[in-house]
Amino acid sequence: MSLVIVGSGMAGVTVAEERLKKDPLAAVTLITQETDGYYSRPMLSHGFSRDDVESKIILKSFEALHQGGLKVMTGCEVTAIDRSQKTVRYLEKGLEGAIGYDRLVLAPGSDAFIPPPLKPFEDLLYRLNSLRDLKALRTLRTLIKDRGQQPHWAIIGGGLIGSEVASDLARSGDAVTLFHALPRLMERQLIEADSDTLKAVLEALGVTVQLEVAVTGLERQGERFGVQLENDLSFGFDAIIAATGFKPRTQLAEAAGLQVNRGILVNPWLKTEDDAIYALGDAAECADGKIYAYVMPIRHQALWLATHLHGPADAPWEPPSFSPRAKVHGFTAAHAYRT
Ligand SMILES: Cc1cc2nc3c(=O)[nH]c(=O)nc-3n(C[C@H](O)[C@H](O)[C@H](O)COP(=O)(O)OP(=O)(O)OC[C@H]3O[C@@H](n4cnc5c(N)ncnc54)[C@H](O)[C@@H]3O)c2cc1C
Repeated sequence: MSLVIVGSGMAGVTVAEERLKKDPLAAVTLITQETDGYYSRPMLSHGFSRDDVESKIILKSFEALHQGGLKVMTGCEVTAIDRSQKTVRYLEKGLEGAIGYDRLVLAPGSDAFIPPPLKPFEDLLYRLNSLRDLKALRTLRTLIKDRGQQPHWAIIGGGLIGSEVASDLARSGDAVTLFHALPRLMERQLIEADSDTLKAVLEALGVTVQLEVAVTGLERQGERFGVQLENDLSFGFDAIIAATGFKPRTQLAEAAGLQVNRGILVNPWLKTEDDAIYALGDAAECADGKIYAYVMPIRHQALWLATHLHGPADAPWEPPSFSPRAKVHGFTAAHAYRT
């Protein structure tokens, strides 16, 4: 029985490796648009204070995965699913191809979410969602520093990722202004007292934190950028980074006629409405309406799914209890995070 997996993040790679552990002769193909290897996405937000990050972030090369018995197709974008023929179509080095499957696992992850007011300015925004994004930001930072200047960043969004990136850039010696539309930082995960502590920690690192400030537009003047606020224009940034949430990649599933809501809808067995197609990770919306976009529950899903594909499993996937943690330099929350 052939298994095809789309995506080489934590979800896709874990399912693939675990499936092969259970049955080394299983036919497993992993298709990914990545070329650098299987990397740690959480490490992206510490990608400035560590010089060696571009090598240390790679958890496993694609070559090593291949030697483990996995067929890996890299630099290869899956473009469509044909459910009646049980094939996926892909584009590899400009050439189209197709591969058949008995079981298909969708683990395409998520894009950075850009809120509607900022959509017209999308091309001016940087993100920190992938290793490619990190490399682009590091290249820009080197250019600015080579001119003998201190980089000045505007970060839009004071959630978990915005706070982490702000802290890492500030710790690396850059000027950072963090704009957050709500009255306190990481309001979804932290109680008020911990949000206050986080703000104080960021300010001690040198971050300028602007709360209750919605960014409604961007402006470019030569090499410099400004952010449009309600009654003001804040100017003088080298770049603007959007940290305004994530958007599950649902396009492939949707185009194949599978049900999607915010994510690809799956039942408690992580199965879509198609008996042959499963989804997990950042892209999947579970039966309880939640998207478990953290590494711990995603690994748990992937281990369960590998067992089920070998099995089947006796019982459906149950979300584990877990607690995320912000990797902000010098910050520890005094109370449990909300998930
Ligand atoms: C900056 C940052 C910091 C984070 N920090 C933490 C943290 O500290 N703790 C925590 O628990 N979580 C953290 N997260 C969230 C965590 O990284 C994600 O929940 C997790 O990586 C999602 O794994 P995934 O496998 O579902 O998706 P991804 O890691 O996004 O992998 C999906 C893969 O699929 C590939 N792909 C997509 N579409 C296609 C296609 N059509 N064809 C071929 N390939 C395709 C993509 O290129 C990608 O490699 C962080 C996320 C970010 C961005």
